[in-house]
Amino acid sequence: MSSIRLNGVHHISCITGDAPGNVGFYVGVLGMRMVKKTVNQDDPSVYHLFYGDENGNPGFDLTFFEYPGARPGRAGAGMVHRILWRLQSAGSLDYWQGRLAEAGIPAELVEADPRFAATGIDTGEKALRFADPEGLEHEFLVYNGAESPLIPLHSEVPPAHAIAGFHGVNAYSASREGTEAVLSRVLGFEDLGNGTWLVAGESRSGCYLLDVPPEERQMPGAGTVHHIAWATRMEDQEEWQSHVSDFGLYATPVVDRFYFRAVYFREPGGVLFELATMGPGFATDEPAGTLGERLSLPPDFEAIREQVEPHLKVLPDVRQWRPSQSS
Ligand code: ZN
Repeated sequence: MSSIRLNGVHHISCITGDAPGNVGFYVGVLGMRMVKKTVNQDDPSVYHLFYGDENGNPGFDLTFFEYPGARPGRAGAGMVHRILWRLQSAGSLDYWQGRLAEAGIPAELVEADPRFAATGIDTGEKALRFADPEGLEHEFLVYNGAESPLIPLHSEVPPAHAIAGFHGVNAYSASREGTEAVLSRVLGFEDLGNGTWLVAGESRSGCYLLDVPPEERQMPGAGTVHHIAWATRMEDQEEWQSHVSDFGLYATPVVDRFYFRAVYFREPGGVLFELATMGPGFATDEPAGTLGERLSLPPDFEAIREQVEPHLKVLPDVRQWRPSQSS
């Protein structure tokens, strides 16, 4: 293994069939900040929405591709099936159970996965598990580790209760052996036993938990994860590309996604992985203070903004959830 290291989770991209409802849930209820409102670079007639912390940092960036009217999918072998998030204290579990109930979302308080103990990171005894309105599963953990919290500010959710970034994911692999070979030999994850894998970079770590897949085949659709991206340093991206290729996996060339540069490959267990640079970031094409409030278009589409914008669905105005200036 060379000196290049992954700095935890960069972003996780999912599918929604209901972009307005998606904004209402992730910004309105969960208190995330919309850090970029743009279009799918392969199809400018639909949205690509990005939710994050106050500064749009890698490590807290949940994105959704809009497939209008897409039917709910089902996670199966070859997919990430649950997203793990950090909370800052045990009291926040009750806060979120109550807030989700008010929004009509049942959330179950469960025993924290005993496998977390092997990571050496204290993640509390209880966790809160729930699904978004389209069935995407989330779990909130109480994170007592040393990594700095990534916090969005919101008109209703107090900063002390705010979601503080990704902890990792649970995934189903269609080839446990193949997945584990790539995690250990290509990506530098540490094997902690029982399907528990941890990658730790300069400032952030990420956890990848392998679960036994269900019998039913996977069905991509609304409420499923499309891919997971791991964070890389800008200067390492080309080296990562050849490093993955050298192992015999097909890796795309470095793709310029404007806010970061990406390399994609499918790990042998079926999950689409991306390696994404921790920059240049979301403030490259709009002011940091008003991220996500206006439709951002890649340069190629900016010239046809008048054709693109009227075809997009009207979304809730996220400014209603920004913290008030006076408080
Ligand atoms: Zn991505």
